[in-house]
Amino acid sequence: MIPFNVPPCVGDEIEYVKQAIDSHKICGDGAFTKQCNAWMEERFGAQKVLLTTSGTTALDMAMLLCGLEPGDEVILPSYTFSSTATAAVLAGAKLVFVDIRPDTMNIDETKIEAAITDRTKVIIVMHYAGVACEMDTILDIAHRHNLMVVEDAAQGVMSTYKGKALGTIGDFGCYSFHETKNYSMGEGGALVINNPAYNERAEILREKGTNRAKFFRGQVDKYTWVDFGDSYLPSELNAAYLWAQLLHADEINDNRMATWNAYRAAFAPLAQAGKVELQTIPEDCVHNAHMFYLKCKDLEERTALIRYLKDNGILAVFHYIPLHSAPAGRKFGRFDGEDRYTTRESERLVRLPLYYGMTEEDRNRVIDCVFAFYAQ
Ligand SMILES: *Cc1c(COP(=O)(O)O)cnc(C)c1O
Repeated sequence: MIPFNVPPCVGDEIEYVKQAIDSHKICGDGAFTKQCNAWMEERFGAQKVLLTTSGTTALDMAMLLCGLEPGDEVILPSYTFSSTATAAVLAGAKLVFVDIRPDTMNIDETKIEAAITDRTKVIIVMHYAGVACEMDTILDIAHRHNLMVVEDAAQGVMSTYKGKALGTIGDFGCYSFHETKNYSMGEGGALVINNPAYNERAEILREKGTNRAKFFRGQVDKYTWVDFGDSYLPSELNAAYLWAQLLHADEINDNRMATWNAYRAAFAPLAQAGKVELQTIPEDCVHNAHMFYLKCKDLEERTALIRYLKDNGILAVFHYIPLHSAPAGRKFGRFDGEDRYTTRESERLVRLPLYYGMTEEDRNRVIDCVFAFYAQ
């Protein structure tokens, strides 16, 4: 069976995990966590990065830091993972879903302004497949209406928009290091803070509502409970695993990109023949080969393709059920405007196996199998 995903492992993870154990420091914010934060700050040009226990809790932190009040509204795409939305619900917001663009499956920036009301406080964008949303337009709308922008960059680590790392463009950026993402620590994530005014509040929120981070820097002589908070620090064991991956970040990226490019070249004739559609990478965007997907004619054809691949030992998957049509989406939000693409395009999309270390032989088997399906 060719799996859909294999968690990345470069080989030296175990050595760093052992170092964490030997240092007798396995709780949060030890040497490995600090190294990971500093690496991302440097590499992505971010003023502050904090590792978290997941991409979801990074989003929770971002939404809580936005300071929403009951009845406030948050604009987001319906075509996204539940975490994007549930973080806003946790912070007390009402969800306002808008349609996506069919070419990138990202939020349609031209539909945002019509969804703004006097209760709107935040726009959450999700960079699908590590391909950036149209951020210049979105930031312009946010500035004109005095809104905050949170980037769900869970899939966008190492991607850029006009040369800027995804996650560093809005007020906050959120990364995921789940095992299904390009870089992993099992479960984990990171919050990118782009406005230094939020640094201190973020540290307090992450450290159970205490000013412990300040205490460790010697800025206060005792630490105490100063505001509401939660626990968002990952263990050093997880951070040590991630550290090994960050040191090999370019190698992982190149390896995934080679598979992505090979898929792309192989499927070009199928796209030219009008059998499938391929994803669009806008000119300003450098992506990270997080995902390779095809779009079939319709839901029926997609179901048949996934079944055909499975019968031939290949696991391909689809997502997402649009949030506005899910039970919780109906409870916590509304769709603004017309659902022209969200439902229709999500029903046609199929993701092919793509992971660090995928062999050429397996990749070719996937390609041959898709061609065999369309030759029937
Ligand atoms: C993976 C993912 C998340 C959640 O990340 P976790 O680390 O699994 O909590 C959030 N948003 C998007 C778009 C994702 O792909």
